[in-house]
Amino acid sequence: MSISTSVPAYAAPAAKAPLERTTVPLRPVGEFDVLIDIKYAGICHSDIHQARDGWGEGIFPMVPGHEIAGVVTEVGPGVTRYAVGDHVGVGCFVDSCRDCEYCAQGLEQYCVNGTTATYNDRDKNGEPTYGGYSTHVVVDENYAVRIPDGLALDIAAPLLCAGITLYSPLRHWKAGPGKKVAIVGLGGLGHMGVKIAHALGAEVTVLSQSLRKKDDGQRMGAEHYYATSDLATFEQLAGTFDLIVSTVSAPLDLDAYLRMVKTDGAFVNVGAPEEPNSLNMFSLIGGRKTLAGSMIGGIAETQEMLDFCAAHGIGSEIEVIRAEQINEAYERVLASDVRYRFVIDTSTI
Ligand SMILES: [Zn+2]
Ligand SMILES: [Zn+2]
Repeated sequence: MSISTSVPAYAAPAAKAPLERTTVPLRPVGEFDVLIDIKYAGICHSDIHQARDGWGEGIFPMVPGHEIAGVVTEVGPGVTRYAVGDHVGVGCFVDSCRDCEYCAQGLEQYCVNGTTATYNDRDKNGEPTYGGYSTHVVVDENYAVRIPDGLALDIAAPLLCAGITLYSPLRHWKAGPGKKVAIVGLGGLGHMGVKIAHALGAEVTVLSQSLRKKDDGQRMGAEHYYATSDLATFEQLAGTFDLIVSTVSAPLDLDAYLRMVKTDGAFVNVGAPEEPNSLNMFSLIGGRKTLAGSMIGGIAETQEMLDFCAAHGIGSEIEVIRAEQINEAYERVLASDVRYRFVIDTSTI
């Protein structure tokens, strides 16, 4: 596709409007670009936020989707990393400045000059970016990752956001043998945290609102499972964890959670609550504890995560849907009625 063209997609025509089938422009395949025939696209909670303009400043029509898995069908003349037929993924961003100290370290997600988001953003030419709820996408080869053989594209798609969102903090804070790690919330993000932390060798605990998903959590690798609706949990687990990773996007009683962290341990937030959270500094001082955040991961680390997941037989637990079920799926995500990630079969678009 050397000339610009358009491709079928599901888009929100305006903020809060239901998504509908349409076509969107596809940029020509440039010198360093790959054209990807999208096979599956995961539905991330943040797709819903943005399609409903929860974070403001949305660009419409909006084609969400930053958990993209597909097959390379064309490469630009300068492409060296990929060939036609390769299985590849695209996550939350498709470009960055490539020049700042963070880009230089493979921490593109923290690019000083800002990444170009996979959708709901503008590329360096000012053109809107369109995400994975589509049949095709054109991406610079440096912002695609290889999906290893042995990792099916449908269960791989959610790894591109949910997987790396948990993998990166688990690695950074050294989850592994001898470490006690708690994952707060067993949803799309949390279930990946349990699987990855377990595969890293940590002793994993799930802290969930109820015990409703206990069997699932244990099957995924959690050794312990506690309900946070039971206040006794916080007493019982005082001073237990080297690392707690919270995937919850509602405000939490941080002081209560920090009491469960060991001296020199960390509480890391990957959820994105819209409301500010209060904190008593004594919760950190007494025990030299760290309160931190983490956001997805860089390209090299995303590749490392995919290779790790393939080596350990880890995929997302998914429910594959047809494109016309996207709006219904959004409602179910908001009601926490999904085990554990919706993935769109993009051949139905
Ligand atoms: Zn996401
Ligand atoms: Zn940069």
